[in-house]
Amino acid sequence: NVVRERILRHRSLQLREKQQDWQESPEGQKMLEFRRSLPAYKEREALLKAISENQVVVVSGETGCGKTTQLPQYILESEIEAARGAACSIICTQPRRISAMAVSERVAAERGEKLGESVGYKVRLEGMKGRDTRLLFCTTGILLRRLLVDRNLKGVTHVIVDEIHERGMNEDFLLIVLKDLLPRRPELRLILMSATLNAELFSSYFGGAPMLHIPGFTYPVRALFLENILEMTGYRLTPYNQIDDYGQEKMWKMQKQAQALKKRKSSIASTVEDALEAADFREYSFRTRESLSCWNPDSIGFNLIEHVLCHIVKKERPGAILVFMTGWDDINCLKDQLQSHPLLGDPSKVLLLACHGSMASSEQRLIFDKPEDGVRKIVLATNMAETSITINDVVFVVDCGKAKETSYDALNNTPCLLPSWISKAAARQRRGRAGRVQPGECYHLYPRCVYDAFADYQLPELLRTPLQSLCLQIKSLQLGSISEFLSSALQPPEPLSVKNAVEYLQIIGALDENENLTVLGRNLSMLPVEPKLGKMLILGAILNCLDPVMTVVAGLSVRDPFLMPFDKKDLAESAKAQFSARDYSDHLALVRAYDGWKEAERDQAGYEYCWKNFLSAQTLKAIDSLRKQFFFLLKDAGLIDCNKENCNKWSQDEHLIRAVICAGLFPGICSVMNKEKSITLKTMEDGQVLLYSNSVNAGVPKIPYPWLIFNEKVKVNSVFLRDSTGVSDSVLLLFGGNISRGGLDGHLKMLGGYLEFFMKPELADTYLSLKREIEELIQR
Ligand code: ADP
Ligand code: MG
Repeated sequence: NVVRERILRHRSLQLREKQQDWQESPEGQKMLEFRRSLPAYKEREALLKAISENQVVVVSGETGCGKTTQLPQYILESEIEAARGAACSIICTQPRRISAMAVSERVAAERGEKLGESVGYKVRLEGMKGRDTRLLFCTTGILLRRLLVDRNLKGVTHVIVDEIHERGMNEDFLLIVLKDLLPRRPELRLILMSATLNAELFSSYFGGAPMLHIPGFTYPVRALFLENILEMTGYRLTPYNQIDDYGQEKMWKMQKQAQALKKRKSSIASTVEDALEAADFREYSFRTRESLSCWNPDSIGFNLIEHVLCHIVKKERPGAILVFMTGWDDINCLKDQLQSHPLLGDPSKVLLLACHGSMASSEQRLIFDKPEDGVRKIVLATNMAETSITINDVVFVVDCGKAKETSYDALNNTPCLLPSWISKAAARQRRGRAGRVQPGECYHLYPRCVYDAFADYQLPELLRTPLQSLCLQIKSLQLGSISEFLSSALQPPEPLSVKNAVEYLQIIGALDENENLTVLGRNLSMLPVEPKLGKMLILGAILNCLDPVMTVVAGLSVRDPFLMPFDKKDLAESAKAQFSARDYSDHLALVRAYDGWKEAERDQAGYEYCWKNFLSAQTLKAIDSLRKQFFFLLKDAGLIDCNKENCNKWSQDEHLIRAVICAGLFPGICSVMNKEKSITLKTMEDGQVLLYSNSVNAGVPKIPYPWLIFNEKVKVNSVFLRDSTGVSDSVLLLFGGNISRGGLDGHLKMLGGYLEFFMKPELADTYLSLKREIEELIQR
């Protein structure tokens, strides 16, 4: 111990020397000067004092004031100055991987170091962290994973949970776990950081923890609402009675949707609906389809945005423009549209950039750069530019008023992904982004009265997503009864959602009747993918068809590599169909596309291959690296033996792969009824469902399988299935569900329920004879 102490002390002194050297160097001085200009610097001593005197501290302050980059650094610096540097370990969680990476890079640069020295980062499947890393930026998921093997966070001195105002599921979950941990680790410090001022909620959750606010300075931002924008820019609106049928139908649908949401007691929906009535929104409807949809939860009005951007570029003073869009696909569509615009698409006048979570980091850096003189920077961003990323030279913000939000329909057990109105807090936050360097302007593309009706804050994610992975985590962290644990959340989820999640885990065999983790469940909780995907991986390993199964799982957990450009949809769809070879499976099409790409890559023809087949090289590369990670994870878990040949012995057997997909995705099953001219698809919960048009099974005259097993269904007006594979009766009977649950009888009974429900009398015989065969088999 004495030796250890000595080594620690020696290293601490080294760290202190290094820090001093940097701070005294000319570049270090310049950096310090910048850092001292940030609002957080004035509070440095007060923050450090509060942290040393209290176990939990809540810190709030305007975005850009220096919470994320400075506060963890203050702690690190003060520990190093006190010659305790080598003994401290600070973890700062970020809700998004992209911000964990960007922030760690920035902090390392501010300390005159390379990443991986005293500052590092770790996100799922990637990281940069060395032996001497004392400050680690990681995603919330990574810290939760660490808690799995290290319940007491041994050796960690400070945990900083950033962006808690976003109320992501992982963050809310982490807070329950940490609250439980704090009494066991009295010397551990917890700091919660938030951009907006609902600090009281968090403070009272932690028994009245002290709250510190960093007063920030931002320039005033003028808020322009739709009525002002229309007046200013002269954009013409059409009276209600001149809107075409399409427009009427859309508005009607929107009202219906709002009513449906209201039934589910969504505060956002009911207030917006009221606002729309009060606003007499008919006045504000537009002639063209695109701009009408500005009013619609489906997408936003591209033409209106184009019009506003033109107005700013032509008439307003210099300064970057930040446009808040609903999602990645909308950003891409709008970017395409703007690129063909005579003014906005002219690279000598406008620098057009996108900013969203799935962007490469090289592309991401461009956002921070200053454009050349006379060139206007326009950044199309998702709501991630609201708080986690700061673009300094923004003077104009265009806010569409919506964000894509997952919600969860517990009654039908169906996740929904709809762009929905943002909260007042988010709108204020978006507006604030315009006042960083000088007074700014914010164009809200909705009327004032709609803003007035926004909810104050967004509904926490825990209350609007399926809870399967979370429940599995609770069990593997040995946190006791699931429902009891979740009832101690900041805002507990509905009991029905919890019940659905537990039942699902029991159906797939991850939990037993008494909610105890099964062997499968334990294995699943070790894999950083959804339970159903983990189950596929495990079966792929056991049944020696690993390669194609890893491709399927990687594809499902990254994103679809098949591109569907708006204007070339037909070409793209037929390119995809070529990979399906009449086997009625999107998953197998993915396997073929990936295998073909690998082969083309070997001949250095990967890009041509992607171009020709409408595939995203970037996504395929991501799938490739994920596959490698899966292999090591499975090997570590002892699920594959060292012989790589063996685990691919049956990889060419498509029936087997189909069966593994079925085993993983069950109970995501729908029945297929081929009629003369059409195909009817039905699930037990939703009744009739539809396929996304980019599925290889969409638009075919007949599907020669009685069932489609699917990965995901999403409710967007109707329920749509994404990525499906045809399976036969026997595969469903043998691989659907969990044979060990309630014995064979229980399993068959459950499946029988499905068959009965779908009323397929012709199946009864197959079902019974299979049952008999299996029973005989077992008796033998
Ligand atoms: P907060 O977390 O309070 O929103 P940050 O700590 O992220 O604030 O940022 C503080 C300031 O540091 C920003 O206003 C910006 O000026 C600067 N900054 C942050 N990241 C970068 C970066 N990657 N490059 C240059 N400056 C940055
Ligand atoms: Mg921050």
